[in-house]
Amino acid sequence: MNDTPRGAILQRDKTSYAIVPRTPAGIISPEHLENIIKVVRRYDIPVIKMTSGQRMVLVGIKGEDVEKIWNELGMTVGQATAPCLHYVQACPGTVTCRYGKQDSLGLGIEVEDIYQEMNLPAKLKIGVSGCPRCCGESYLRDVGIVGDAKGWNVIFGGNSGGRPRIGDVVAKNLTKEEAIDLTRRLLEYYQKNARSGERTARFVERVGFDAIRRDVLAFAPYIPLDSTQPK
Ligand code: SF4
Repeated sequence: MNDTPRGAILQRDKTSYAIVPRTPAGIISPEHLENIIKVVRRYDIPVIKMTSGQRMVLVGIKGEDVEKIWNELGMTVGQATAPCLHYVQACPGTVTCRYGKQDSLGLGIEVEDIYQEMNLPAKLKIGVSGCPRCCGESYLRDVGIVGDAKGWNVIFGGNSGGRPRIGDVVAKNLTKEEAIDLTRRLLEYYQKNARSGERTARFVERVGFDAIRRDVLAFAPYIPLDSTQPK
Protein backbone atom coordinates (compact mmCIF):
# COMPACT_ATOMS: atom_id res chain seq x y z
CA MET A 1 0.00 0.00 0.00
CA ASN A 2 1.29 3.45 -0.91
CA ASP A 3 1.18 5.58 2.25
CA THR A 4 2.95 8.59 0.71
CA PRO A 5 0.95 11.70 1.55
CA ARG A 6 -0.82 13.49 -1.31
CA GLY A 7 1.56 15.32 -3.64
CA ALA A 8 4.58 14.55 -1.45
CA ILE A 9 8.05 13.39 -2.46
CA LEU A 10 10.02 11.26 0.00
CA GLN A 11 13.45 12.73 0.69
CA ARG A 12 16.75 10.89 0.97
CA ASP A 13 16.48 10.73 4.77
CA LYS A 14 13.52 8.36 4.08
CA THR A 15 11.39 10.14 6.69
CA SER A 16 10.68 13.68 5.52
CA TYR A 17 8.88 14.94 2.42
CA ALA A 18 8.93 17.78 -0.07
CA ILE A 19 5.94 19.35 -1.79
CA VAL A 20 5.71 21.56 -4.88
CA PRO A 21 2.68 23.89 -5.01
CA ARG A 22 1.73 24.80 -8.58
CA THR A 23 2.95 28.23 -9.64
CA PRO A 24 1.77 28.41 -13.28
CA ALA A 25 4.45 29.96 -15.51
CA GLY A 26 6.32 30.96 -12.34
CA ILE A 27 3.67 33.43 -11.21
CA ILE A 28 2.57 33.57 -7.58
CA SER A 29 0.06 35.88 -5.90
CA PRO A 30 0.87 37.88 -2.72
CA GLU A 31 -1.78 35.82 -0.87
CA HIS A 32 -0.17 32.51 -1.82
CA LEU A 33 3.26 33.87 -0.98
CA GLU A 34 2.00 34.90 2.46
CA ASN A 35 0.48 31.45 2.94
CA ILE A 36 3.80 29.85 2.08
CA ILE A 37 5.60 31.99 4.64
CA LYS A 38 2.98 31.14 7.27
CA VAL A 39 3.23 27.36 6.78
CA VAL A 40 7.02 27.47 6.60
CA ARG A 41 7.09 29.20 10.00
CA ARG A 42 4.23 27.22 11.56
CA TYR A 43 5.57 23.80 10.53
CA ASP A 44 9.23 24.68 10.84
CA ILE A 45 10.00 23.77 7.22
CA PRO A 46 13.79 24.04 6.89
CA VAL A 47 14.23 24.63 3.13
CA ILE A 48 12.46 26.61 0.41
CA LYS A 49 14.11 25.77 -2.91
CA MET A 50 13.52 27.62 -6.17
CA THR A 51 13.69 25.13 -9.04
CA SER A 52 14.76 25.51 -12.65
CA GLY A 53 11.11 24.97 -13.57
CA GLN A 54 10.03 28.22 -11.88
CA ARG A 55 8.55 26.38 -8.92
CA MET A 56 9.03 26.63 -5.19
CA VAL A 57 9.73 23.37 -3.36
CA LEU A 58 9.09 23.17 0.38
CA VAL A 59 11.52 20.57 1.74
CA GLY A 60 11.77 18.72 5.03
CA ILE A 61 8.10 18.27 5.95
CA LYS A 62 6.85 15.63 8.38
CA GLY A 63 4.47 13.14 6.76
CA GLU A 64 1.65 13.91 9.20
CA ASP A 65 1.84 17.62 8.34
CA VAL A 66 1.58 17.34 4.55
CA GLU A 67 -2.21 17.33 4.22
CA LYS A 68 -2.62 20.14 6.78
CA ILE A 69 -0.09 22.21 4.86
CA TRP A 70 -1.92 21.69 1.56
CA ASN A 71 -5.14 22.80 3.18
CA GLU A 72 -3.54 25.91 4.65
CA LEU A 73 -1.73 26.82 1.44
CA GLY A 74 -4.90 26.78 -0.66
CA MET A 75 -2.76 26.11 -3.73
CA THR A 76 -3.04 23.45 -6.42
CA VAL A 77 -0.96 20.35 -5.74
CA GLY A 78 2.02 20.27 -8.08
CA GLN A 79 3.37 17.00 -9.46
CA ALA A 80 6.98 15.90 -9.21
CA THR A 81 6.91 12.21 -10.08
CA ALA A 82 3.53 11.41 -11.68
CA PRO A 83 3.26 10.87 -15.47
CA CYS A 84 1.65 14.17 -16.41
CA LEU A 85 2.46 17.83 -17.06
CA HIS A 86 4.81 18.89 -14.28
CA TYR A 87 5.17 22.52 -15.20
CA VAL A 88 5.09 25.18 -17.84
CA GLN A 89 7.97 27.62 -17.61
CA ALA A 90 7.51 30.90 -19.40
CA CYS A 91 9.54 34.05 -19.84
CA PRO A 92 7.94 37.50 -19.30
CA GLY A 93 7.41 38.14 -23.03
CA THR A 94 5.48 41.25 -24.01
CA VAL A 95 4.20 41.71 -20.45
CA THR A 96 7.49 43.29 -19.41
CA CYS A 97 10.42 42.32 -21.64
CA ARG A 98 11.67 44.90 -24.13
CA TYR A 99 12.49 42.16 -26.65
CA GLY A 100 9.14 40.40 -26.38
CA LYS A 101 7.27 39.64 -29.61
CA GLN A 102 4.42 37.60 -28.11
CA ASP A 103 2.67 37.17 -24.75
CA SER A 104 4.53 34.08 -23.52
CA LEU A 105 3.43 34.56 -19.92
CA GLY A 106 -0.26 34.62 -20.86
CA LEU A 107 0.10 31.61 -23.15
CA GLY A 108 2.13 29.70 -20.55
CA ILE A 109 -0.55 30.19 -17.90
CA GLU A 110 -3.27 29.19 -20.38
CA VAL A 111 -1.44 26.06 -21.52
CA GLU A 112 -0.77 24.92 -17.94
CA ASP A 113 -4.42 25.39 -17.07
CA ILE A 114 -5.57 23.36 -20.10
CA TYR A 115 -3.17 20.41 -19.80
CA GLN A 116 -2.40 20.07 -16.09
CA GLU A 117 -4.89 17.21 -15.59
CA MET A 118 -3.90 15.21 -18.69
CA ASN A 119 -2.51 11.72 -18.03
CA LEU A 120 0.57 11.05 -20.14
CA PRO A 121 3.09 8.23 -20.66
CA ALA A 122 5.76 10.09 -18.66
CA LYS A 123 6.39 13.42 -17.01
CA LEU A 124 6.18 16.38 -19.35
CA LYS A 125 7.62 19.88 -19.31
CA ILE A 126 6.66 22.81 -21.50
CA GLY A 127 8.69 25.96 -22.16
CA VAL A 128 7.18 29.11 -23.65
CA SER A 129 9.35 31.98 -24.91
CA GLY A 130 8.22 35.39 -26.07
CA CYS A 131 10.92 35.87 -28.70
CA PRO A 132 13.65 33.86 -30.51
CA ARG A 133 16.13 34.55 -27.69
CA CYS A 134 14.29 31.64 -26.10
CA CYS A 135 14.69 32.37 -22.38
CA GLY A 136 11.88 29.84 -21.73
CA GLU A 137 14.32 27.07 -22.78
CA SER A 138 11.74 25.92 -25.32
CA TYR A 139 14.07 23.76 -27.43
CA LEU A 140 14.96 21.68 -24.35
CA ARG A 141 11.42 20.96 -23.20
CA ASP A 142 9.05 18.19 -24.27
CA VAL A 143 6.94 20.84 -25.92
CA GLY A 144 8.39 24.23 -26.73
CA ILE A 145 6.53 27.28 -27.97
CA VAL A 146 8.48 30.28 -29.22
CA GLY A 147 7.03 33.59 -30.33
CA ASP A 148 8.42 35.83 -33.05
CA ALA A 149 7.12 38.74 -35.10
CA LYS A 150 5.02 36.38 -37.25
CA GLY A 151 3.37 34.34 -34.51
CA TRP A 152 4.16 31.14 -32.61
CA ASN A 153 6.51 28.26 -33.46
CA VAL A 154 5.88 24.84 -31.88
CA ILE A 155 8.72 22.44 -31.04
CA PHE A 156 8.52 18.82 -29.85
CA GLY A 157 10.83 16.29 -28.22
CA GLY A 158 13.38 18.41 -26.39
CA ASN A 159 15.07 17.35 -23.16
CA SER A 160 17.71 18.93 -20.93
CA GLY A 161 18.50 15.84 -18.86
CA GLY A 162 21.37 13.37 -18.86
CA ARG A 163 20.63 12.47 -22.50
CA PRO A 164 19.84 15.94 -23.79
CA ARG A 165 18.00 16.47 -27.06
CA ILE A 166 17.18 19.63 -28.99
CA GLY A 167 13.51 19.53 -29.97
CA ASP A 168 12.32 19.57 -33.58
CA VAL A 169 10.23 22.37 -35.06
CA VAL A 170 6.76 21.05 -35.90
CA ALA A 171 5.24 24.23 -37.37
CA LYS A 172 5.90 27.95 -37.57
CA ASN A 173 3.94 31.19 -37.76
CA LEU A 174 0.87 29.94 -35.89
CA THR A 175 -1.79 31.95 -34.13
CA LYS A 176 -2.16 31.42 -30.39
CA GLU A 177 -5.21 29.21 -30.96
CA GLU A 178 -3.33 27.15 -33.54
CA ALA A 179 -0.34 26.73 -31.21
CA ILE A 180 -2.63 25.51 -28.41
CA ASP A 181 -4.44 23.17 -30.80
CA LEU A 182 -1.18 21.75 -32.18
CA THR A 183 0.10 21.23 -28.63
CA ARG A 184 -3.07 19.24 -27.88
CA ARG A 185 -2.66 17.13 -31.03
CA LEU A 186 0.99 16.40 -30.19
CA LEU A 187 0.16 15.43 -26.62
CA GLU A 188 -2.72 13.19 -27.70
CA TYR A 189 -0.48 11.50 -30.27
CA TYR A 190 2.22 11.02 -27.64
CA GLN A 191 -0.37 9.75 -25.16
CA LYS A 192 -1.63 7.18 -27.68
CA ASN A 193 1.65 5.96 -29.17
CA ALA A 194 4.44 6.27 -26.59
CA ARG A 195 5.48 3.47 -24.24
CA SER A 196 4.85 3.80 -20.53
CA GLY A 197 7.59 5.93 -19.02
CA GLU A 198 8.93 7.05 -22.40
CA ARG A 199 9.80 10.76 -22.47
CA THR A 200 9.07 12.65 -25.68
CA ALA A 201 12.77 12.82 -26.63
CA ARG A 202 13.09 9.03 -26.58
CA PHE A 203 9.71 8.68 -28.28
CA VAL A 204 10.85 10.90 -31.16
CA GLU A 205 14.11 8.96 -31.47
CA ARG A 206 12.26 5.62 -31.58
CA VAL A 207 9.37 6.55 -33.89
CA GLY A 208 11.05 9.27 -35.97
CA PHE A 209 10.18 12.93 -36.06
CA ASP A 210 9.07 12.93 -39.71
CA ALA A 211 6.51 10.18 -39.03
CA ILE A 212 5.16 11.96 -35.96
CA ARG A 213 4.96 15.28 -37.76
CA ARG A 214 3.24 13.73 -40.78
CA ASP A 215 0.64 11.93 -38.65
CA VAL A 216 -0.10 14.91 -36.42
CA LEU A 217 -0.26 17.46 -39.22
CA ALA A 218 -2.58 15.24 -41.27
CA PHE A 219 -5.31 16.39 -38.88
CA ALA A 220 -4.22 19.99 -38.41
CA PRO A 221 -6.27 21.81 -41.08
CA TYR A 222 -4.44 25.12 -40.68
CA ILE A 223 -1.12 23.60 -41.77
CA PRO A 224 -0.81 22.47 -45.44
CA LEU A 225 -1.11 18.70 -45.73
CA ASP A 226 1.61 18.49 -48.34
CA SER A 227 4.13 20.56 -46.42
CA THR A 228 7.23 18.56 -45.56
CA GLN A 229 9.06 21.40 -43.88
CA PRO A 230 7.84 23.85 -41.28
CA LYS A 231 6.18 26.72 -43.09
S1 SF4 B 1 12.77 35.08 -24.70
FE1 SF4 B 1 12.71 37.16 -25.48
S2 SF4 B 1 10.81 37.99 -24.62
FE2 SF4 B 1 11.38 36.23 -23.39
S3 SF4 B 1 12.61 37.07 -21.69
FE3 SF4 B 1 14.00 36.37 -23.31
S4 SF4 B 1 14.41 38.20 -24.46
FE4 SF4 B 1 12.55 38.60 -23.30
